[in-house]
Amino acid sequence: MRFLLVEDNERLASLIRRELERLGYSVDRVGSLAEGEEACRLAEYDLIVLDRGLPDGEGLLLLKTIRALRQATPVLVLTAQDSPHHRIEGLDSGADDYLVKPFDMGELAARCRALLRRPSQTLDLALTAGNVALDPASRQVRVSGEAIDLRRREVALLEILMRRCGQVIARPALEQSLYSMDEAVSPNALDATVSRLRRRLNDAGAALQLRAVHGIGYILTVNDEGA
Ligand code: CA
Repeated sequence: MRFLLVEDNERLASLIRRELERLGYSVDRVGSLAEGEEACRLAEYDLIVLDRGLPDGEGLLLLKTIRALRQATPVLVLTAQDSPHHRIEGLDSGADDYLVKPFDMGELAARCRALLRRPSQTLDLALTAGNVALDPASRQVRVSGEAIDLRRREVALLEILMRRCGQVIARPALEQSLYSMDEAVSPNALDATVSRLRRRLNDAGAALQLRAVHGIGYILTVNDEGA
């Protein structure tokens, strides 16, 4: 998942960036309206976090550009001002959600997760891959409708893999999202978690393949015949 962060406040931008990267997202950060417009023309993002008060103008102008380019990228608007008027203005310009400064990084993360669920999974909040379903809120995992017991970290690993099913995810990205910076992590901790998760999924009859890609990381794919 690739995010664009448009925020001119250096300190806040680095806090947001760190939080999003910790969750496994990659983040391009720019500090002005003009740079934001250029970034949107050059790349397609999975989500944009947009500050309203930018040095060269009102952040909502970027939102209009994005919608004019017919990009359906979800946009989370950050603002220092909170009033019904500001909210209505933001949502009317095509923002998908709205967060008032100062905000909690946990709330930012939750809002981003909610936006990423749309529009493909609007009706079904659970992530699905083959016969496996994961509910990000309850942390419950089901295989063919039967709940299976997984450790917290196994569920976190499975969630990352399911959100990017079919894509290779690099080891450092997995490690960064599974372990906090102050945790002492042994070099084979990730492999051990992967092995346990794979065994549990196989035992439960999951139609998924969790494979190592040598020297890079891991990939989760749906097993066509077994589904
Ligand atoms: Ca600002």
